[in-house]
Order: sequence, then structure tokens, then C-alpha cells
Amino acid sequence: MPTPHSPTSGDPTADVGLDAGLGLDADLDAVRARYRAERDRRIRPEGNSQYRRTEGEFGYYADDPYAATEFDRAPLADRIDVAVVGGGFGGLLAGARLRQAGVESIRVIEKGGDFGGTWYWNRYPGIHCDIESYIYLPLLEEIGYVPKWKYAPGEEIRQHARAIGRHFDLYRDACFQTRVTELRWDDEALEWIVGTDRGDRIRARHVVIAGGTLSQAKLPGIPGIETFKGHTFHTSRWDYAYTGGDADGNLDRLADKRVAVVGTGATAIQCVPHLGADAGHLYVFQRTPSSVDVRGNRPTDRRWAESLTPGWQRRRRDNFLTLVTGGEVEEDLVADGWTSSTKLQRKLIPAAGPTDLPPGERERLEEVVDLRKMNEIRARVDAEVADPATAETLKPWYRYMCKRPTFSDHYLQTFNRPNVTLVDTADSHGVERITENAVVVGGTEYEVDCVIFATGFAVGVSGILSGQLPVYGRDGVALSEAWQRGPRTLHGFYSHGFPNLFQLGPLQNASAVNYVHILDEQAVHVAEVVAEARRREAPYIEPSAEAEAAWVVTIRQKAADLYAFQAECTPGYYNNEGRPRERSEAYGEGPVAFHALLRRWREEGGMSEVVGAGAVGAAAGEAEAVEAEGTE
Ligand code: NDP
Repeated sequence: MPTPHSPTSGDPTADVGLDAGLGLDADLDAVRARYRAERDRRIRPEGNSQYRRTEGEFGYYADDPYAATEFDRAPLADRIDVAVVGGGFGGLLAGARLRQAGVESIRVIEKGGDFGGTWYWNRYPGIHCDIESYIYLPLLEEIGYVPKWKYAPGEEIRQHARAIGRHFDLYRDACFQTRVTELRWDDEALEWIVGTDRGDRIRARHVVIAGGTLSQAKLPGIPGIETFKGHTFHTSRWDYAYTGGDADGNLDRLADKRVAVVGTGATAIQCVPHLGADAGHLYVFQRTPSSVDVRGNRPTDRRWAESLTPGWQRRRRDNFLTLVTGGEVEEDLVADGWTSSTKLQRKLIPAAGPTDLPPGERERLEEVVDLRKMNEIRARVDAEVADPATAETLKPWYRYMCKRPTFSDHYLQTFNRPNVTLVDTADSHGVERITENAVVVGGTEYEVDCVIFATGFAVGVSGILSGQLPVYGRDGVALSEAWQRGPRTLHGFYSHGFPNLFQLGPLQNASAVNYVHILDEQAVHVAEVVAEARRREAPYIEPSAEAEAAWVVTIRQKAADLYAFQAECTPGYYNNEGRPRERSEAYGEGPVAFHALLRRWREEGGMSEVVGAGAVGAAAGEAEAVEAEGTE
């Protein structure tokens, strides 16, 4: 039997059943105590306010290194069918699906100099998508493309985004290097007036907001950060002029440089191997280690690609989504690190409903499965990292989905290089201080020439709620005002009082790790609603107040209770920096059920709730929510 655990004593892995086979006899109390101790070391009372936005004095961190700075054009004051805010995969999918639905004039308005969103901004060395390319890259069958690798490099994905733009003729009316600053509904003309930072006043019948979820780079609020006199940038604006090389590495200008990387999330896992290979010396400042699983990238098998039959991408995407959200499939088509833990879960936990197990047993088995996965991840660190102290520091001590899992066959090995130093910052809650020429941790000054922030993005900051994108609907009512007591939508897409306005995103909708799949389902839905409105010659699309209220109740009633799980996690953006939200704003039954619900709604007369003025009633299949509405 494992001995009682003390987080500071001896070899902690021995205490929690690292060698316990399936782990069914593991001392879960000891594991929980260890995880809790690691969480407590890192919790910061300021939560999210520990971070700085890349604006004002830090605005240069967000400058576009790829687009021409001298770009200028005359303001636009024309009239279009649909304005799409954002040219990442969300905006591109909305444009593509609307085009397929017969919409002629579509204008995508995008801050960057081209399509791509995340893949436009992030071009750091080593960039790849860690979701399988065949399910992540959208519209593969429509474009007639099969990615070259199981996990695609960023540049291939960016080129695919551009190919979508060309294929669906979205370049024709697009506005790049343009930020939408205001949306205002014109009650008389029944259209939106879209204001931008280039002085445009574009009139659009419909507006789709596809601003993305990880689009605002953030910096840690480290004291003295502004005093650093060396070179510095954020990973989402990689400065190849300084480092040399490209996304494949070969950062030859770093050969004589001392480089600091702050952060060890999914981005750092990909760029650190290149920095380690090319920098004179690399210091990696880690607060919480990531779980780093096997990658196993491989080129696409040409014979397999040739054997694909129509509908293959939809089948593969659905198969992955079902599996990673706990459903049953006959065959695991993707078969990778994302699906392996759910398969193990299936092996240990009967597929039948919770009532078939004694109370608490399902949760216990889930914990055992989790422990087994994390033990594998920790054992891999020992196998790959030569120095035992460094290996210990690289081991993640939390449950698997507390932080975003990562995958690499090169990251851990980088710490075996003599020119690479791992600096643990957990006890000081992150980097303590930055001076003119050094990064300070535990009183030690690490002198460096360059600091690279791999510190991620402001997550879930809705432009509407934060006031960055003011939206005024019928009678000049601000959307932020209408949502003062919480978001109110039907299916996450539209709100009463804001006709012809659609939002893509996880709010009161679905979410999943292959997020582009979710965006595609959303784009298809929006396009079908717009097409139906055109068929019916409806003056506008707007959910009835009743249907909206019913959906808000449904979201509340079905909200997944993640609080207890997240409260035990080390802080990060998954748990709102250690302050988990009391209730989730996503559809609690998961994306597979949500997509089925949308399909039913479309087939069974739901359109009448949004197409045509004065429509009333609840969504098909959600009658119980209407009954509960009075209690809201
Ligand atoms: P993350 O938010 O995941 O990571 C930020 C890192 O910075 C964390 O390690 C964090 O530590 C660290 N950090 C923050 N403040 C400090 C501080 N004061 N001192 C020291 N360290 C600090 O950002 P990423 O850019 O890595 O990833 C963001 C997301 O982008 C991913 O989660 C993923 O969703 C997506 N992504 C997807 C990829 C893909 O292949 N599909 C690839 C890359 C990113 P701590 O954990 O302790 O807070």
C-alpha cells in the first residue's frame, strides 16, 4: 500500500501509485493532497488582474509585424448583404457557408493583413496544430485538399485559410487592416451601420461577429517589465528580423544571445525546442509544467488519401468529437493522444448510465483513469530528461484536463542540452521582477539579451461584454446593457432587440477541443437561417423574447457542474485563474447533443421563432424550458 503523502518528502511518485499498474489500488487521498499543495503554491489573489493587456504603453507588443504599415485607403460608405467581423476560421466559415447558401455580397472585415486569424498572427518557430489536420482544417473536401502531415505546420494552415478565401471569392470585398469599432442598427432602413477605425460607415443587412476566443495577446504584470532594455516580443508576433530563421527554425541570429522564455503552455512547448537548438543560452521560466504527451507526427499516406470517399471529413470529425466528449464509437479513426485517455476511461468505466454504479463510484473510477494518464506523463519525463532534479520540476501535478494537454517529441529532450536552463518560478507565483537587463527569480538575476513572452491570450473576453465592440440594437439599446444581468441569446447566436445580428463562439452554445469543427456547425446553422429568411422574404431575423428566455433557462438547467473539479486545479485560464465560475455558459449536454438539437430545431419548425416579426414559442424539443421560464 502507498504510504501517507507529504508533498515535500522523498520521491512523491512512490506515494501515489506510479507503479500500481492500472492504478485501481492507488491512494487517491494522497494524490489529491499533492495536487492541492501544488495548486496552493500557485494561486494568486489577483486572479486575472495579474495580467496586462497589450495596449497603451504595451501596445507595441500587438503591432502587426507582417502587414505594410503605410497601408491607406478611402473610407467606405456602401451597402452589402453581410458584414463578417473577423477573418479567422470562424469568419471564413461564415463567409463560405453563406456563399453556398447563395449570398452575393459578403464583406469580411479583419484587423490583420490577410485571412487566417490565429494562424495569421502566430508564426513562431515550430508552430503546428496539435489537433489532427484531417479534422482540424475545415472545408477540405470543398477545396479538394488533403493536408501533408497528420499534424499540420502553421504555414500550411494559413495557406489553407487563404485558399478558402479564394475558393469562396471572399477576397473580392474583404477589408483587411481594419478594426470594427461600432455596430449600430438603423430601425428605419432595417440594416446595420458598421463603423471602423478607417472611418468606414458600411451598411449591412446582416452582421456576423466572429472575433475569435484567443485573439488578444496578454502579458504578465511582472514588476519592472517596462524597464527592460534588451529585445522583447510576444510569441504571437514573432520577430524573425531579430531571431533569424523561420517557422522551421534555424534561428541563426540567436547564436550569441541569451534568451528568456516566460511561460510553458502549448505555445512554448512548440517553440522551446528551436530556441534551445539555436540560442547561445536559453532560460525557460516555468510556473506550472504542462503535461507533454507523445506527438508521433507523420506524413500523410498517399494511398490512404486516395482511398477517401465523399463525406469522409464529416465522418472523421464526428467520430473524434463523439469520442472526446465521452460517447461511443465503433472505431477510433483519429487514434491519438486526445482519444487515448477517453478510450481508457471506456475500458475501466461501464458505458451505461451513472445509475448502474454505486454513488461516487463513477467519479472514483474517473479519478483512477486520470491518475493513470498523469502517471504515464510523469514517467515520460523521467524517461526523457537526464537530470533528476530538472525532471522533477518538469512533472505536472494536477488532473489531466486542469490545463490544456500538450504533445511534443522534442520539448522535454531540450532540457538535456547544456545551453538550456529551466527556472522554476512556482514559489514566487511567477517571475518576480524584470530589470534593465535581467529576469529575477528567487533573488537570482538571470542576465539576458531578449525576453520572449509565451504567456498566452486573454480568454473568453467578449468584445461585447468588455465594451471593446459597442453594439446598439433597436431603439439604440446597447447589447452590453441588455446583457447586464448575464448574456441572453437563443442558441448563443442571436438576441432579442438585435435583429440580423449573429455571434459565433462558445457562449450559450457548444465548445470542444477541435474548435474549428464547432465553428463550422455554427456557420452552417447561421447560413441556413439566413437562407430561410430570404426564402420567406422576412424583413429581419430576430428571436422572439419567449424563445430567448427559454434558451437562457435551458442553459441554466443543463449547465455542467465543473466547479468542484476546477476548484481543485492549479490556476490557469481553464479555471479562471483559480476562481472557477459558479456556472457554465455552454450547453451542458455537450456538443454532440447540441448539434442534434440544432438540426431538430431546423427540421421541426424552429425557424418560425426567428424568421418573421412577432414569432413566439419555444424551440422544438425544449418545451420543458418554456414551462420553467416563469421561474427565471
Ligand atoms: P497559455 O495561457 O497556455 O500559457 C501561458 C504560460 O505563461 C503558462 O505556462 C503560464 O503559467 C505562464 N505565465 C503566465 N504568467 C506568468 C508569470 N508571471 N511568470 C511565469 N510564467 C507565467 O498560453 P499559450 O500561448 O501557450 O497557449 C494558449 C492556448 O492557445 C492554448 O491553451 C491552446 O488553446 C492554444 N494553442 C493551440 C495550439 C495548437 O496546436 N492547437 C498550439 C499553441 C497554442 P501558468 O500555467 O502557471 O499560469
